[in-house]
Amino acid sequence: MTTPQSWEARADEYSLYGFTDLPSVHKRGAVVLTHGEGPYVVDVNGNRYLDANSGLWNMVAGFDHKGLAQAAKDQYDRFPGYHAFFGRMSDQTVMLSEKLVEVSPFSRGKVFYTNSGSEANDTMVKMLWFMHASEGNPQKRKILTRWNAYHGVTAVSASMTGKPYNEVFGLPLPGFIHLTCPHYWRFGEEGETEAAFTQRLARELDETIQREGADTIAGFFAEPVQGAGGVIPPSEGYFQAILPVLKKHGIPMIADEVICGFGRTGNTWGSITYDFVPDAIISSKNLTAGLFPMGAVILGPELTDRLQAAIDKIEEFPHGFTASGHPVGCAIALKAIDVVMNEGLAQNVIDLAPRFEDGLRQLAQNPNIGEYRGVGFMWALEAVRDKATKTPFEGHLSVSERIANTCTDMGLICRPLGQSIVLCPPFILTPAQMDEMFEKLDKALGKVFAELA
Ligand code: PMP
Repeated sequence: MTTPQSWEARADEYSLYGFTDLPSVHKRGAVVLTHGEGPYVVDVNGNRYLDANSGLWNMVAGFDHKGLAQAAKDQYDRFPGYHAFFGRMSDQTVMLSEKLVEVSPFSRGKVFYTNSGSEANDTMVKMLWFMHASEGNPQKRKILTRWNAYHGVTAVSASMTGKPYNEVFGLPLPGFIHLTCPHYWRFGEEGETEAAFTQRLARELDETIQREGADTIAGFFAEPVQGAGGVIPPSEGYFQAILPVLKKHGIPMIADEVICGFGRTGNTWGSITYDFVPDAIISSKNLTAGLFPMGAVILGPELTDRLQAAIDKIEEFPHGFTASGHPVGCAIALKAIDVVMNEGLAQNVIDLAPRFEDGLRQLAQNPNIGEYRGVGFMWALEAVRDKATKTPFEGHLSVSERIANTCTDMGLICRPLGQSIVLCPPFILTPAQMDEMFEKLDKALGKVFAELA
C-alpha cells in the first residue's frame, strides 16, 4: 500500500465522509483544518475561512476562546472523567444540572445527560415510552414530528427527522408520523393567508391525533426554528395554535432546542422567542459552545414528577451512557453558559440581528433570491429560478452547493441546505466581519446566478 501524500488525498483515502456531496469533494478535495482564530478557521495550506456556520451551528464562542479552553484544562487536571451511574456523579454534573434548571423556563425540573443531540432525543422518547407504560398505557408509543425537522441520526432520532434521505436506511421506523412543515412561503396555498395556513396546520394536527387515537401517541417534538431543514421559523402564531391541541389530547410537547438554545435566536431558548413553554427541552451543541460532545434532556415539572413516579415503581431508570454527565463536559458547559450569557455574546446576537436582517434584505433584491428568513443569528436565503412563481432551480444544477463552493473559494464557509444558503455564524462576529460575510456572499451569488442564467 502506498501512502498518498497530500492531506486532501489522505483524508479521502482513510476517512468516510458523512453528509457530504462526494462528487464535489472528489473534484475539489477535502478542506483539512488545523486551527481557528475567532470566527475564522485555517486550513493546512494556510487559507483562512470565515465560518458563517459556526462549525455545525455549535462553535458559538468562535474557535479559540481562551476561557473555555482553560475551563477544560482545569477540569482535566482536577478530575478528567467519570460516569453518572450507581448513585455517583461528579460535582460539576451536580452544578450543571442546577444551572440548567435555573436557566430553563421551568419552575423546577430534572436533567439527564447524553453525548449528542440525537441521543438526547432518543433518551426523551425512551422516557416517554417508559412513563406511559408505567402509567398503564403501553400502547402510547407513536411520535409526532414535522417534515423538514432534523432531530438526529440514531435509528429513533432519524425516524423523527422529516427528511426523505432516511429512506436509504429503511427509516422511519413504524409509528413516527410527520406533519406539514410550518413554512408559509413554500407551503401556503394560493390565496391562503398566513393566519389561515397556521390554522390549517393546527387542524391537521387535531385530525391526525383523532385518526391515530390520542391513546396511541407518546409525544410531539418540534424545533422552535427548524434548523437543518433550511432555517424555517414557524408561521405566525404556530405554537400558540398547536399547543392547545396537544394539551386537549394530553400529549407532551418537547422543544428540540439543540440549535435554538443558548442565545441563537436572541433569547436563552427559542421557545422564549416564540412565546411558549414546552414540557421538556432537548439541548446540545451550544450547550458546550461546541467544545465537548454533550446533550441534555431538561424535564419540566410535570414530566419530572410523572417520570419519577415511573422510576420509583421499579426503583431504577435502566438507561445511561458511559460519558453521561462527564465532568469535563459539565465544567465546559458551566463556563460556556457563563460566557454566552454574561460576556456579551448573547447580547451581540440581539444587537447585530437587525444589521443581519438588513444585509439579507439587500441580498434578497437579487431576482434569483426568493426569500430570506430567520431570527437572531440563524438565517437563510432561498435561491429560485423564478421569483414570481417561486420555481426552484433544476435539481441537477445543485445551485446551493455551487454557491457554497464559490464562497469557500473566496474564504467564506456557509451551508447549502436544499436550495437555501444558511448563515449561522459564531456569536462573537463583529460588524466588520458581518460585512465581510455579506460582501463575499454577494459576489458568490452574482457569479453563480450569472453562470446559471
Ligand atoms: N436536533 C437538532 C435540532 C439538530 O440540529 C441536531 C444536529 N444538527 C440534532 C438534534 C442532532 O444532534 P447530534 O448531531 O449532536 O446528534
